[in-house]
Amino acid sequence: MRPSERRLYEPYRFSLDVQTSWRTYPIRIVAPTPSRCHRKPSLLAQASNSSFVEGACTEPGCGRLTSLSATAFKNLDLWVACPRCGRRMVSEMPVSGYGFSCGTCRLYVFLADLLPRHDDVLALIRSQEMQKR
Ligand SMILES: [Zn+2]
Ligand SMILES: [Zn+2]
Repeated sequence: MRPSERRLYEPYRFSLDVQTSWRTYPIRIVAPTPSRCHRKPSLLAQASNSSFVEGACTEPGCGRLTSLSATAFKNLDLWVACPRCGRRMVSEMPVSGYGFSCGTCRLYVFLADLLPRHDDVLALIRSQEMQKR
């Protein structure tokens, strides 16, 4: 993406209703690499109300965070449909951070906006711990 093009892009904000409903949707995205601490799947989450993305270790009682590397992000291979035209968005951003953009509509979304919050993921990991007892 050329610097002159970047300025043409606008961030797209999903409505609060939409964000709330998909954050409780049961499908979770697993990071391409297992957690460093326990070699368990890591679930992607939004880091404390920011545009950062981290993976939380799913070992019961752990939940330790590992930041998602740029390479790992590229390897996610997610299909994100443009909220305006429905075409598949590309994993290239006009601003820093992980997300997806549409060259036709000139808009972008942050991956973090599409993920559950860190607290929600920790609650999920904790509930597995209870079942183990
Ligand atoms: Zn762990
Ligand atoms: Zn579009």
